[in-house]
Amino acid sequence: MTLDAQSLPDWGWMALAIALAPAIGSFIGLLSLRLPADRPVVAARSACDGCGRRLGVLDLVPVLSFVALRGRCRSCGSPIARRYLLLEVGCALLAAWAGFVHPGPLGLAGALLACQLVLLCLLDAEHFWLPRVVTLPLIASGLLISALGGAQAALHSLIGAAAGYLSLVGIGALYRRLRGREGLGGGDAYMLAGAGAWVGWIGLPTTLLWASLAGLSLVAASLLAGRAVKADQRLPFGVFLAAGTWLTWLYGPLGGLEL
Ligand SMILES: [Zn+2]
Repeated sequence: MTLDAQSLPDWGWMALAIALAPAIGSFIGLLSLRLPADRPVVAARSACDGCGRRLGVLDLVPVLSFVALRGRCRSCGSPIARRYLLLEVGCALLAAWAGFVHPGPLGLAGALLACQLVLLCLLDAEHFWLPRVVTLPLIASGLLISALGGAQAALHSLIGAAAGYLSLVGIGALYRRLRGREGLGGGDAYMLAGAGAWVGWIGLPTTLLWASLAGLSLVAASLLAGRAVKADQRLPFGVFLAAGTWLTWLYGPLGGLEL
């Protein structure tokens, strides 16, 4: 991909991504709680869960507020949810990862991808829910950023989105016929479309391979922990798909899996 990188050195792009990521991580924390509860998302985190004190600007600076207040509300001393801190730091680390692998503006694009994937992971892990209000922007941003890389990249991205969507819709229909029940959530197809938009159709097989490996390692880990996984147990496919999309976007399709 060739974006215009003249305006800023590589470290500048990375610094920008790492500086923005905690604020976005904080917003992701908010979305992950308010979207499933159908609460408005425009307002910022508003009040302490312990005493109801309204939070001001100084309480809402990502990471720094948490450190300065030592993780406690300044009025009542009740602990501030770790969720936000973890998301703020986690998004910054993912932004740095993207910047290391793809220096320059592409790394910033990777940070944007990471933040969207983190939100989908949270929603799917906690609610088995991949809402279109998140997956459609994932598709749109993938198409848009690929289009900046020229006509060929745009075409690969467009075919990837279509192929991702249609393959899961097809597999879902097949599963319904064979087993007589839903095997995949409707949101999975939109999410794989988003993956295809970001990694291109050439990257889709690799994405699914990483996703399967991630899923299998989770099953293996629960077996090792002594917890049996039932055949009809629901697994958050979106979490595995997010891992597959991320690794494929970073490191490209595996040799031999480039169709
Ligand atoms: Zn409080």
